[in-house]
Amino acid sequence: MDRGSLSVLDKPISLTEQLQQVETSHTSGVYTKRAIVVVRGQGAHLWDADGKEYIDCVGGHGTANIGHANPQVAQAIADQAGVLISCPEMFYNDRRAELMERLCRAAGMPRVFLSNSGTEAIEAAIKFSRLLTGRTEVVAAMRGFHGRTLGALSATWDKKYRSPFEPLVPGFSHVPYNDLAALEKAVTEKTAAVMLEVVQGEGGVNPGTPEFLLGAQELCHQRGAMLIVDEVQTGFGRTGRLFAMEHYGLQPDFLCVAKSIAGGLPMGATLIGDRVGTLPPHVHGSTFGGNPLVCAAALASLDVIEEQGLVQRSAELGAWFVEQLRQVRSPLVREVRGLGLMVGVELKQKVAPYLQALMARGVLVLPAGLTVMRFLPPLVISREDLAQVVAVVQDVLSAPIAAAE
Ligand SMILES: *Cc1c(COP(=O)(O)O)cnc(C)c1O
Repeated sequence: MDRGSLSVLDKPISLTEQLQQVETSHTSGVYTKRAIVVVRGQGAHLWDADGKEYIDCVGGHGTANIGHANPQVAQAIADQAGVLISCPEMFYNDRRAELMERLCRAAGMPRVFLSNSGTEAIEAAIKFSRLLTGRTEVVAAMRGFHGRTLGALSATWDKKYRSPFEPLVPGFSHVPYNDLAALEKAVTEKTAAVMLEVVQGEGGVNPGTPEFLLGAQELCHQRGAMLIVDEVQTGFGRTGRLFAMEHYGLQPDFLCVAKSIAGGLPMGATLIGDRVGTLPPHVHGSTFGGNPLVCAAALASLDVIEEQGLVQRSAELGAWFVEQLRQVRSPLVREVRGLGLMVGVELKQKVAPYLQALMARGVLVLPAGLTVMRFLPPLVISREDLAQVVAVVQDVLSAPIAAAE
């Protein structure tokens, strides 16, 4: 940015402080922020405005599976930007045709609706399910997170997100995750859809059991409901498969993906399964959805995932990382769990001060709920970096930090 445009202040302050002041005075206020200004990335590393380097286990909140500043994706974006950026779905487009075919083949599902974010991918699945079943109820899971627009928010469980906005869309209910008996009671002839994550992300890195997920699918088939699988966070290699549903052999009616789909550019997709009937024109749409720029980025990103073997890498490094984390000696750790490079360390106390301590030592980590540390590193991360992360985690968790929060 143009530094000259920053407000002139009496006493000299650092660029970092200036930038923080500018954002703080103009931000909506809906985010809590950490006190660093991230200005550059490369692979699994980030740098702040003071030149300090970090190992990135936030991974753009799951959007950076292929790593930061990948040159192939940067080139594809630049090339496409010089050819055509805007092309709504009222026209056909070369890049979009290519991506649709590639996504559908990868997921083993015949059709796809393209949008711009995770919550939109979910929103489309809710609308399509209601439309095609003529029913209005949706059963989701406790601790589930599906987004923040009003439909997706209705499926999201945490009161913190929901309460200020009630009444939400009617007809949504929540059963305990991995409790098939509870799901059997909740799914009725009024149920339009069952919506589930394969590994709960925001809810604490909780992998689904095969019994529960396959049981949910069976129940949907028996009772005429749609199965919506939310892989917004687990998709594109995160769990050691291209899609986490492959671990279980799930075949959902709608598969919602976003986050890492387009190398970090905003994109969502709702894949549509064989059992789903025809969707009539005009029932849904998106102006930006499937624009050639993001389609080109998504194609290049899929190339990178394939060429660099990132899915296999996620499986192998993830298993190793979990094993290393389980050897951390600490009175604070309740459990280490994960699938691929989607890893959670549950503490016996609030995680916030430990995340701060990790950041001070050059490791950026996400929370998942109040007590879980969540690691979503770019899948290109090196074993050496992960070893360093483990060492820093060991250091930080050796003794309790007096609870400021
Ligand atoms: C992040 C996330 C969403 C919402 O995606 P946005 O792009 O932020 O709207 C939905 N579901 C899951 C599982 C997510 O992790």
